[in-house]
Amino acid sequence: MYLADYSLSVQRLKGVGSGIGVLFSKLEIFTCLDLLLFLPRAYEDRTRLVGVDEAIQRQVMVFTTGKVISHGYFGNRRAILKIRFEDHLGKPASLLCFNRDYLKNKFPPGSRFHLYGNAQTQYQEIQISQFEIAGANDRQPHPPGLGSVLPIYPTTSGLKQSTIRKAVYQAIQHLQDVTEEIPQSIKLKHGLDSWIEALQKTHLPRNMQEPEKGRYDLAFRELWFLIGNILIERHQRISICIKHAPYPRSKLQAAHRSIPFTLTRGQENAIEEILADLDQGRCMARLLQGDVGSGKTLVAVLSAIPVMEAGEQVAFMAPTELLAQQHYSNLIKILTPLDFKIALLTSSTSAESRNSILSQLSTGELDLIVGTHSLLSKEIHWNKLTYVIVDEQHRFGVRQREALIKSGSAKHLLMMSATPIPRSLALTVFGDLDVTTLPDLPAGRQPLSTYLVNLENVKRVWDFLSTKLEAKQQAYVVVPLIEESDNRNLWDLYSVYENLKAVFPNYQIGIVHGKMKDSDKTATMDAFKSGLLHILCATSVVEVGVDVPNASCMVIYHAEIFGLSALHQLRGRVGRGSLPGHCFLVYTSNLTEEAKQRLKMIRQTTNGFELAEADLDLRGPGEFLGMRQSGYVRLRAANWHRHASLSITIRDEILDLLQKESQGEWITHLRQGSIFKSSSEDTL
Ligand code: ADP
Ligand code: MG
Repeated sequence: MYLADYSLSVQRLKGVGSGIGVLFSKLEIFTCLDLLLFLPRAYEDRTRLVGVDEAIQRQVMVFTTGKVISHGYFGNRRAILKIRFEDHLGKPASLLCFNRDYLKNKFPPGSRFHLYGNAQTQYQEIQISQFEIAGANDRQPHPPGLGSVLPIYPTTSGLKQSTIRKAVYQAIQHLQDVTEEIPQSIKLKHGLDSWIEALQKTHLPRNMQEPEKGRYDLAFRELWFLIGNILIERHQRISICIKHAPYPRSKLQAAHRSIPFTLTRGQENAIEEILADLDQGRCMARLLQGDVGSGKTLVAVLSAIPVMEAGEQVAFMAPTELLAQQHYSNLIKILTPLDFKIALLTSSTSAESRNSILSQLSTGELDLIVGTHSLLSKEIHWNKLTYVIVDEQHRFGVRQREALIKSGSAKHLLMMSATPIPRSLALTVFGDLDVTTLPDLPAGRQPLSTYLVNLENVKRVWDFLSTKLEAKQQAYVVVPLIEESDNRNLWDLYSVYENLKAVFPNYQIGIVHGKMKDSDKTATMDAFKSGLLHILCATSVVEVGVDVPNASCMVIYHAEIFGLSALHQLRGRVGRGSLPGHCFLVYTSNLTEEAKQRLKMIRQTTNGFELAEADLDLRGPGEFLGMRQSGYVRLRAANWHRHASLSITIRDEILDLLQKESQGEWITHLRQGSIFKSSSEDTL
C-alpha cells in the first residue's frame, strides 16, 4: 500500500468518535494519512530528571521526583494552596496550586510525587504554578512520558495533546507494508529511513535527535513527490512536438524597424528563445522574468507577431482592467500598422461589442485579444488560438492559467512576472517552466532615489514635490487604506486627498482605488496619462504594471505596512522614462524591527532580484507571491527556504533518473504514490 492510500477515517481510531472527529476536521485532519502528516510543532524532553536549579539555569522544564515538606496558603484571601517540597537533589521549591486545593489531601507532608512543570524564581524562592503531578506510589508510577520525548502538536480548543498522541500512535501501529516510492539507490545515497521509521522518529521519538532526522526524511519525500511530478509532466510535455513550418518573420522585421528604440540584449535573446521553441514545435511553457521596467511587454508582443502572421490567434491576459486597457492601447500602436486586428475584452465591455468580438474570434478575423479574466469565458470559441501570454502571472491561479490553455488549441504559454523569483523557487515550484530572464534595463534609464521620511516631516516631501510639479512632472501618492477605519491609526486615501488639495491648490488631483467602477478608474488613469491630472492619489491598484513615463515622483504613505515586493513594484512606477525617479517612503514613528529591516533593505537596493531573496527570507514563501491563494500546494514537512538546497539536490536526482530511465517503476511510484494526490486539483 502507498502511504498516500492510507485513507482510513480518523474516526475509526479508538478514542476518536464523531465529536473528536469534528475537532480533528477543524485541523483539516480526516484520514490517517492527514494525521500522520500533521507534524508536531515542538517536543518535550522527558528522558531524564531535571532538578529545579538546573531548570532555572537552563530555562527548561523541571522533571523530578519530590518530597512534600509542608503546606501553606497565600493570595488575597489566603485561599490558594502552596506546597513546599524538595526535589530529587534536595533543593527546595514551591508548587502554587491554583484551583487545585484537592492536592492538599493527596499529597500530605512527607509524601512523594513525580512532577513535570515550569519553574520561575519569584519572591526569593523557586515557584512552579503550571505542572503535571502524579503520586510516586500511584499504579501509574510516573507522570506520563517518563523516559520518552513527547511531541507537542498545534491544536485547537477542546482537543487534548494526549488525544492526538493516542490517535497518532494507533495510526502508526496499524501501518503495514508501506510501499517505498523512492528508489533504493537514492535512499541509500541520502541516508533515508523507511516511511515507518521516518514517521516514528517524527511522532514517537526516543530522544531529542530523532525528530530532526524524521523531519528531514519527510521533507525529502514531500519534495520528491512535488518536484518529481512537475518534472515528469514537463518531460512529457516537451517531448511532444507539433510539426510546424518555421514561422514567418517579415512582419516582425517591419515591427523592429518602426520601434523608436533599440532593444536590450536581454529582450533580443528572449524573443529568439521564444521563437526557437515555437519553430521547433515544442509546446512552450516559459516564464519571462525581469525587474520592473525591463520591457517585458515588448518582448511578448514582438514574439506574438510571427504567430499572427501565420494566421494563428494570440490571447494576452492581464490581471486588472487598468493593465488590460494599458496594454491594449500600447499594442494597437505597434500592431495596427502591421495590419493585425486586435480587440479588448473585459467585464465592462458592452454586451453588443462583446458579441461582435466573440463572433470575430470564432471566425478568426481577430488576430489578438487583450483582456482580463473574461478571456477564460466558456462562451469564447477560438478559431485558432495557439499562443497565450499572461502578464503578472502570480496574480492568476494555476487553474485559471490551465483553463486558458485547455480552452482553445493553445500550445504555447508565456508568463510574465515582475516579481523576480528566487532561484530555489524558480527551479522547483516553477520547475515545469523554462525561465528566460531579462537581466538589464533599457539604456538611458534614469536613477531612482529612495528616501525614508517620518510622517511628521511629510511637509518636506510636499516642498520637493512642488518643484517637480512646476517642472511639469507628475506624481503618485499611494495610501494603503481607502476609508477611515477606527481600529487602526492610519491615514486613509480620502483624508490624504483632501490634504493634498489644500497643499496644492493650483494642481489637478485625481483619485483611484479598487472599489471604483472600472470605467471611472480608466477615465482617471487616462487623464493622468495625458497630463490633465498632475497628482494621482491611489491605493496599491497602481502597483502592477502601470506605465506613465512622465510621472517622476512617488510618495507611499505607511510604507511600513507593505511587503518588500509590493514596495518594489510600487516604486517601479517612477523613473521609467527619461526623468530621474524619486520615491518617498513615509512611515509612522513606532516601527517594528521587521518593518525597519524592510525599509532599510528597500532603500539600499533597487535590484529586484536581491529584494526577492530578502523577501523570501523575511516572509517565507507562503506569503511571497501569495502562493497559497494561487493554488500552490501546502508543504508540511518541507520549507522552501530552509530546504532550498535540498530541493535543488532532489531536482537534480530526478532529472538524472529521467535521463537514464524515463519509463520505469519509479515513475509509477512517483505518480501513484504522491501524497499530494488527493488535492492534485490544487497542485501545479
Ligand atoms: P515591465 O517589464 O515592468 O512590464 P514594460 O514592458 O511596461 O516593463 O516597459 C517599461 C517601459 O519601457 C515602457 O514604457 C516601454 O515602452 C519601455 N521600453 C521597453 N523596451 C525598451 C527599450 N528597449 N528601450 C527603451 N524603452 C523601452
Ligand atoms: Mg509589465
